[in-house]
Amino acid sequence: MGRLEVVGLTRRYGEVVALDNVRFAVAEEEILAVLGPSGSGKSTLLRLIAGLEAPDAGRILLDGQDLAGVPPHRRRIGLMFQEFALFPHRNVFENIAFGLRMQKRPEAEIRERVQALLEQVGLPGFERREIHTLSGGEKQRVALARSLAPRPRVLLLDEPLGSLDRVLREQLVLEIRALLKSEGVTALYVTHDHSEAMAVADRVLLLRQGQVEQIGPPQALYRDPATPFVARFLDLGTLLEGRVVAGGEGVAVETPAGILRGQPRGALRTGDRAWVLVRHTPRPTGEGSKNRLVGWVERVSFRGLYVEVWARVGNARLRFVFPPTVPEVHPGMTWSLEVATADVLVWPAA
Ligand code: ADP
Repeated sequence: MGRLEVVGLTRRYGEVVALDNVRFAVAEEEILAVLGPSGSGKSTLLRLIAGLEAPDAGRILLDGQDLAGVPPHRRRIGLMFQEFALFPHRNVFENIAFGLRMQKRPEAEIRERVQALLEQVGLPGFERREIHTLSGGEKQRVALARSLAPRPRVLLLDEPLGSLDRVLREQLVLEIRALLKSEGVTALYVTHDHSEAMAVADRVLLLRQGQVEQIGPPQALYRDPATPFVARFLDLGTLLEGRVVAGGEGVAVETPAGILRGQPRGALRTGDRAWVLVRHTPRPTGEGSKNRLVGWVERVSFRGLYVEVWARVGNARLRFVFPPTVPEVHPGMTWSLEVATADVLVWPAA
């Protein structure tokens, strides 16, 4: 149980089209991360699925049942929204038990379920603790246990880790994924942080101005971003504008960094304007077809796990990210770098 289908979903606020004919499906027990810039419609999408608002057009189906007219509390959809804080005057046990009490489950079952969930979120023995005595991370674990307790068919999470620091988020996001999988719950996980989305999700949905820009497994979005917008949002490389000088398979584009050859993503003819992505992390080129970029190093930033290098090539500034083990580069040095044509993607400019 828990197959969700969204068909032609549209929601307007006055002149603003917050969701525009959105269509996708989430399989049973799948975790879908919903990603997009601020204002792209992520929260609106969750509110419609939860039933807190009605769409202007389109349908939401859960296990084949149309949810139109089904009130929120009858949808068996769980919420973990940032603004849905824990009840401050109830202890941990009563917070987690809340949904089960609403369902009028027997006391013994409630105890067993709350205890099992506390074990699962790593807080055994926390039953009697008051909410104000918990750390930020512990509160989020309790909130997660509370939303899972009544066994929702779908769980909606809206920036559940938004208020926590990065180290804690990176740890908790993996715990959340493990827990959702062991509970077998279908989930939509809204975030604006792409690294968090990739870590939690089976697939990622990227929204742009209320429309689906791309949906697919994290690796697929990285390997094959559908549009320059996806590439920019996921920070996959440097984007350059240029003009096609040779079309076809080995498309060549004149850019501020010189003529670059790459993989065409769409129909490109000589003279067309184009967007060119040069990946931040070019692979070793070996025998394959490649571009030679010659310029000088403008800036180097050592980040521990990686090194960022900004290079001036022609009139362009390109950013690269290397493992920290690459040979020394320093600002001011002349630099020559080979970038495989496979690491350069070219789209027609809209
Ligand atoms: P996100 O969650 O991706 O930041 P939202 O779903 O909150 O985006 O908003 C999508 C668009 O709809 C934005 O332009 C926002 O200003 C607008 N919007 C959302 N809720 C309302 C509302 N209640 N009244 C008017 N406009 C709204």
